Amino acid sequence: MIALLLIAYLVIGLLVAKAFVYFDGPDAESPGIAMFFCLFLWPIMVLLELSASSSASWDGWAERLASSNGPTTAAFGKDTAMIDPADWLELAKALPVGGKSSHVHNCGSGRKLLVEHKPNGYAAWCYRCGEPGFVPKARPPLAERIAALKERRDIDQKAVLTIKPPLPAVFDPREWPLEARVWLYKAGFDNDWIEDIGFYWHERLKRVVMPVLSDLNKLVFWQARGFDPAFAKYLSPELGADQHKPIYKAEPVRPVERDASVLCLTEDILSANKVGQVVTGWSLLGTKLNALSEAEIAKFGASKVLVWLDPDEAGVSGRRKIVPQLRARGIDAKAVRADLDPKLYPLEDIRRKLLVHSAT
Ligand SMILES: [Zn+2]
Repeated sequence: MIALLLIAYLVIGLLVAKAFVYFDGPDAESPGIAMFFCLFLWPIMVLLELSASSSASWDGWAERLASSNGPTTAAFGKDTAMIDPADWLELAKALPVGGKSSHVHNCGSGRKLLVEHKPNGYAAWCYRCGEPGFVPKARPPLAERIAALKERRDIDQKAVLTIKPPLPAVFDPREWPLEARVWLYKAGFDNDWIEDIGFYWHERLKRVVMPVLSDLNKLVFWQARGFDPAFAKYLSPELGADQHKPIYKAEPVRPVERDASVLCLTEDILSANKVGQVVTGWSLLGTKLNALSEAEIAKFGASKVLVWLDPDEAGVSGRRKIVPQLRARGIDAKAVRADLDPKLYPLEDIRRKLLVHSAT
């Protein structure tokens, strides 16, 4: 297939070169241009075309397959050939949900066979054969699905009844589902950093649990982030009317010229861990400052308190209340305004921003 295309392009190139010679005569400059066109430009175009078509088919086919829940051949009509699942199904099953990998297909050498584990089934595409493959996952009956949904809601409801974090814990991020890891990778955390700060995956809750420790290293609270839109994104223990949310205090694991005398308050735990590599980073676990946290901040005695919440409505209105609240207590507090959540900036950018704000 590839060889045929290449030959076709070269023949066309040679014809074009001949045409130039024919129209301009043998003395003109055009044979040179034509030779260049023929020898260099065409092969480059062929290569560009091939790389574009292979990635385009890899991107597009999976979506086409995903939109179809029908039996394998129905998705493509009667004429479309499918790769034999015996060639690839086990490879796809070995992947985590959302995972993709490329392999050698029995049609030739090179890793031309791409397989993917999708939420609704297993998919393949060989871009030498130009053929897809898809095996849908069997959908459990409705009653079973409702029972499973109820069971997961029950697990959530039970978990929030206690400040003891849910166990067992999977600490190695390499064993987590892809989307859970990607959430942290996107904020600049790598596997070692994730392990250092003690985040873990809880299989039954299907969430990343972030433990909150006291100054005495006692577990006092936790927050869990989920990835299934059918369930609450964040889960944390329910507090009684007389209980206050604690502060999450980040540890300096990857310090970048850290000035611990400056205290930066953030909304979420990831952000506190990012700013906590540059200054002292604490998360309020929300956008409100309760009396206990306020007293703790005063006791810390920072040279400067920077309030850097997310740039959304809740964050901005929180910041507008918290800064005057701290100043009323005689604390040198200042708001940090930025276009993004603190967690989304690289450490060097955070350092530059906080330096500017703490200097004035
Ligand atoms: Zn093939």
